[in-house]
Amino acid sequence: MKLFDLSGKVAIVTGGNGGIGLGMAEGLAAAGAAIVVAARNREKSEAAVAQLAALGASSTFIALDVADPASCRALVRETVERFGRLDILVNNAGMSVRKPPQDLAVEEWHQVLDTNLTGALVCCQAAYPEMKRQGGGKIINIGSMFALFGAAYAVAYSASKGGLVQLTKSLATAWAADNIQVNAVLPGWIDTELTRDARQQVAGLHERVLRRTPAGRWGVPDDLAGVAVFLAAAASDFVTGAAIPVDGGFAVEF
Ligand code: NDP
Repeated sequence: MKLFDLSGKVAIVTGGNGGIGLGMAEGLAAAGAAIVVAARNREKSEAAVAQLAALGASSTFIALDVADPASCRALVRETVERFGRLDILVNNAGMSVRKPPQDLAVEEWHQVLDTNLTGALVCCQAAYPEMKRQGGGKIINIGSMFALFGAAYAVAYSASKGGLVQLTKSLATAWAADNIQVNAVLPGWIDTELTRDARQQVAGLHERVLRRTPAGRWGVPDDLAGVAVFLAAAASDFVTGAAIPVDGGFAVEF
C-alpha cells in the first residue's frame, strides 16, 4: 500500500544493531527502505546488516558514538555521500546508569544525558538541512515510560527521556513548515539486552512488569516495527509532535 511504502527511502537507525533498534529497522526494511545501522559495536552491527540483507534490504554499517557530536555529524554526512539522500532518522541509541540519585556521579549524569538526549539533538540538527533540501523527512525519537513515570533508580535516564519528548515537540513545531514530522515512541517493557541487565539489577522487576502490564507479557522488538513504519511513511504526514506509547496498556491502567 502506497501509504506505508518506503521504497527508495533511506533510513538511519542509531543503536540499530540489536533490541528495539533492530526491530524497527526490520520493519522499515520490510517496507522497502535502505537502512544505515549506526552504533559502536562493529561485530553486532555487521550481524544486523546481514539480517537486514536477508530481508532483501540494502543496508550498511556506519560507526557511531552518539555521545560525540562530531561522530553524529559524520554519520549523516557519510549516509548522504553513500546513499545520496536521508529520509528517516530513528534516534534509538540509549543507555542507563541505575543508582540511587544521591550516589549518581555528575559524570554518569552527563554520560546518560549526552547519549540519550544531546546525541539525538545533534543527529536531528545534522539531518535537518538534508531533509529540508529534499522537501521533507521523518524523525522518530525513542522515549520511554520513564518520560511519564519516575523511578528511584533511573533519575538520569528518566530526565533524558522526559527531555527527549519535549525536544520532539519543539522540533516538530520548528520544522513542520519544512514538511519534517518529528514524533516520539514510548516503548513499554521490551525484552532486550538493556532490560535483561535491569532485571538482574532491580529485584522483582520481571514479576512487577508482568503484573502491571495489562497485555500480561513483556514486549518484543518486533512489537515496535509497525509504529516505526507508520511514523516513517506517508500515512503519518499530518502527525507531528506526538508521543505514542507502545506498551501493552502499561501507561493507562489505574
Ligand atoms: P539495547 O541495549 O539492546 O540497545 C541499545 C542500543 O544503543 C545498542 O544498539 C547500542 O549499540 C546503542 N548505543 C548505546 N550507546 C551508544 C553510543 N554511545 N553510541 C552509539 N550507539 C549506542 O537496548 P534497547 O533495544 O532496549 O534500547 C533501545 C532504546 O529503547 C533505548 O533508547 C532505550 O532507552 C529505549 N527503551 C527501551 C525499553 C525497553 O524496555 N527495552 C523501554 C523504553 C525505552 P552499541 O553498544 O553497539 O553502541
